[in-house]
Amino acid sequence: ILDTHDNIIVTNINDEILSQYKSKKQVYINTKNLLNNYIDKKSSTKDNHNIDILSNISSIDDAQKAKKLNSDGIGLFRTEYLYIGQKEAPSLDKQIDTYKKILKIMNGKKVVIRTFDFGSDKDVSFLDKKDEQNPNLGMRGIRLGLVEKELLKTQLKALLSVQEEGILYIMIPLISHLSEILDVKELLNTIELELNITKQYKFGIMIETPSSALNASLLATHVDFFSICTNDLYQYTYAIDRLNEALESYYQPLDPTFLHLIKQIITAADAAGIEVSMCGELAGDLTAAPILYGLGLKSFSMSNASILQIKELFSNLSHESMVELSNRCLALDNEKDVIKEVHKTV
Ligand code: PEP
Ligand code: MG
Repeated sequence: ILDTHDNIIVTNINDEILSQYKSKKQVYINTKNLLNNYIDKKSSTKDNHNIDILSNISSIDDAQKAKKLNSDGIGLFRTEYLYIGQKEAPSLDKQIDTYKKILKIMNGKKVVIRTFDFGSDKDVSFLDKKDEQNPNLGMRGIRLGLVEKELLKTQLKALLSVQEEGILYIMIPLISHLSEILDVKELLNTIELELNITKQYKFGIMIETPSSALNASLLATHVDFFSICTNDLYQYTYAIDRLNEALESYYQPLDPTFLHLIKQIITAADAAGIEVSMCGELAGDLTAAPILYGLGLKSFSMSNASILQIKELFSNLSHESMVELSNRCLALDNEKDVIKEVHKTV
């Protein structure tokens, strides 16, 4: 028996184990059928406050699944899959074709496309990158893009070429300085002149370094949107390598300090009147989501597998209850108590 819930393979199977698994399977099917009722419902709180639930995708297949689930859009397209495992970088035409397909599939819904972020956990073979002692703190994200400018330029050119095919959001990873935003904008301006087009897309950044979080008010005046990327933001804020299993117990993303930081980003975005969303794993976490909503987040992007459960969760909670919950959590001093507080409410 392959148990993909607990990630185990059961080999010594007797009648008792078999019957346990048969009933587990039935519970799973029943839950899935119940959740399917949420496919055609727009996500909202119990008292009808609107929430956008979008998909994180890495391929055209994922986009098709997002469409089937009636997702509110793509909140993060990780474009690295176009590059990883390839002998050379994807051509302009190949990229145009892929981006066009995804915009078409999403048919007028927002599609956030993240420019490449190699390095750390996602590496490519065709770049002659030097070995680094700390790849997570090294040449990755926009840093690499601004060094490998032709590679970035080709990707941006492909994106600008499809801007009329749907609602395109271009998102830049690992911003740590304002100057990087200005450099990318200059590059975009050059391409717009070359293609003789005017901007119809939205331009935004991933808030995934502590410096960008702390500087959110200033950065917000230079972009159309933020996406809070908790996977990296947590790693860098707490100095916890996200791939190091030995540090698993240090991963406490509901620590009130982190919640305060997230709130600060949302507040900065709201004050500047720009859109703010979250595309880190935390957005699809059943314990975190009510707190995040209470902190002011109204747009959540997650893997397709989490969408229906999160919709169901929100449909049972009121706006006020989640705001009160997050205020109580912000006043606590450790993650354990935050989790207890959520379980009292949800
Ligand atoms: C993140 O860092 O939260 C994020 C969404 O990007 P990735 O996981 O691809 O680094
Ligand atoms: Mg990241």
